[in-house]
Amino acid sequence: MNKLLIVGTVAFDAIETPFGKTDKILGGAATYIGLSASFFNLQSAIVSVVGDDFPQEHLDLLTSKNIDISGIEIVKGGKTFFWSGLYHNDLNSRDTLVTELNVLAEFQPKVPQNYKDADVVMLGNLHPLVQSSVLDQMEVKPKLVVLDTMNFWMDCALPELLDVIKRVDVITINDEEARQLSGEYSLVKSAAKIQEMGPQYVVIKKGEHGALLFHNREVFFAPALPLEEVFDPTGAGDTFAGGFSGFITQSENISFENMKNAIIYGSNLASFCVEKFGTERMETLSKAEVASRLQQFKSLTQFDIEI
Ligand code: AMP
Repeated sequence: MNKLLIVGTVAFDAIETPFGKTDKILGGAATYIGLSASFFNLQSAIVSVVGDDFPQEHLDLLTSKNIDISGIEIVKGGKTFFWSGLYHNDLNSRDTLVTELNVLAEFQPKVPQNYKDADVVMLGNLHPLVQSSVLDQMEVKPKLVVLDTMNFWMDCALPELLDVIKRVDVITINDEEARQLSGEYSLVKSAAKIQEMGPQYVVIKKGEHGALLFHNREVFFAPALPLEEVFDPTGAGDTFAGGFSGFITQSENISFENMKNAIIYGSNLASFCVEKFGTERMETLSKAEVASRLQQFKSLTQFDIEI
């Protein structure tokens, strides 16, 4: 089985949407990526850090999904990373209310020995120096390195972010962040500029408006499934990244054509994530539900015009 190495936050989140509010619940980029990638035939491990305030049941959940957690350091007396966000009525925009780095501030990642030859590395959202350090520890060059990031790191660690961006094959980023990173309003120009920074493939996520994949002068678009009810978009981007990198890991094919399928898998899994608060929907989701919604995706985008 191919191996996927995941790096990112394992966190406490407090979320408020127009439909309700949660106290500190399980969150974090690596958590969502891991849960999403667990729908593929692969071996995966998370590299992250938590404090000893982090409940064992959350770690057990990850283990129950066959995720190797030996790379999650537990800092004695430390506090887990905490993030809090407030969504506006349209659910497309959110304000970050709190970001407490806590144990993440001093984190030195350690890649488990048996993952230093991982086929795919998914650098989830956290400090770019941590992302770089993980790449430094790889003993065999991965077939694909995917990076996800956000405006927080552009604001507080831009030079370090630009350094790690140079080293990756694929970047996944949302539209506003792509504009901030490139200084271009047009997403086409933005993607071209970001490709010049290093990654050959640029995925721009547009929330409920789908995702764009750019490679050289080619572009592919995957819609998001129109859903009757969206409760909480938290983690949708990470779930997308987990589906994308999980599918590539399983299929061992890093062509542009196969990345189109990976984007559809990512969008499909993300469409479930938003149906309930936090990780709740991903925890109970079945492979049969994933397969059936994939069919809906196909119907949504199929047409028969002869050209
Ligand atoms: P998403 O909705 O896909 O952007 O991801 C939301 C998740 O990202 C939440 O579970 C947070 O714990 C995590 N998160 C929020 N801010 C940061 C940050 N600055 N660095 C790393 N992870 C973060």
